[in-house]
Amino acid sequence: MATIDPGNAGLLRTQTAFFDNMRRLPLTKFYYGMSRTGLAPTEVAGDDPELRPQVLEHVQLRRAMVRPVSTEVAMTFVRREGRWLLGAEVLEKSTVPRARPWYGVPVDVATRGDLVVLTDRGAQVGARELLDRTRTALEEVTDVLDLPGAQPLLVDATSNGLPAKVNQSDEDAGAYSIGLYATSRDGKQDRGKAGELIRANPDDVTQLVEGPTTLRHELTHFVLDGFGDTNPQWVTEGIAQYVGLYPGLLARARVTDPTLRARLADRPVELTAPGLWGSDPFLDYLTAEAFAEHLVTRFGTAKYLEMMRLFRRIAVQRNLLLGQGVVDEVLERVYGVSAESVARAGFDLVEQLSGPA
Ligand SMILES: [Zn+2]
Repeated sequence: MATIDPGNAGLLRTQTAFFDNMRRLPLTKFYYGMSRTGLAPTEVAGDDPELRPQVLEHVQLRRAMVRPVSTEVAMTFVRREGRWLLGAEVLEKSTVPRARPWYGVPVDVATRGDLVVLTDRGAQVGARELLDRTRTALEEVTDVLDLPGAQPLLVDATSNGLPAKVNQSDEDAGAYSIGLYATSRDGKQDRGKAGELIRANPDDVTQLVEGPTTLRHELTHFVLDGFGDTNPQWVTEGIAQYVGLYPGLLARARVTDPTLRARLADRPVELTAPGLWGSDPFLDYLTAEAFAEHLVTRFGTAKYLEMMRLFRRIAVQRNLLLGQGVVDEVLERVYGVSAESVARAGFDLVEQLSGPA
């Protein structure tokens, strides 16, 4: 506190809250870096000289990160009686995600192994409960997919940091996952991935722990990290929906929505093309789930992962995204079936949800 402008009560308060949070975290590294780039200072009271260099915050959490996550922070310094003090720190609007769940309101932390969970202090669903639910869901996901379990993960369900909602469908709105990245001390060089973060909407945490579906859906994306946009959306979202619902199956489900049959009839019987994904989110996710369920129940999860790897390999080799133009080829090579037949089987699954015609 000795290096903070003493006349600024608001700044003293936010910095105290910030360092209180930092003391609760399982920190292995925490340092600032600075470059000689000068930026426009935030207004500080009085006429003393102000300076805002480019400042980077580097934070590494024990086991949840392989190196510190680096975030540019907006700090302005002011010279009072010959000493440079922190005069302001503001959260700037940015297009770059800033994952700083530790900056803002007080947080609670729960850790176990390489899983770290942060919630607002006093939240209805506490960090410990969310951690337990996440661990269980993670085990279920890796079980269904038959993949090795433990991977470092930070779950952020606080009101701090990243925007809670991104522009996605209902299925993904409650939570989403992003990579965390490291830079050199001065921010000039990229140093690769620091870890993975699942951002849960603090308003939806109750819903997240009530049923396993949403949490499992997001954790499937996390476990299958690295496929991302090299696969068509119906492939990545389809498997996330399938795992979310497991052991439930569309084949054994019924819906009471009387409009479903008509809505489906208006839709071309196709595996959803990348450019069309999102135009009818409800049917996009439902049909994706059906395509995945058809492929997994008929051929197994190992084959599905083989398909995802082939999509990724082709995407890298031919420099394309979302399986654009290669769906037929991939399905033929991995399964020996046509895209048309997978689409038909998926639509049949969705059609029978409404019961006999
Ligand atoms: Zn998703």
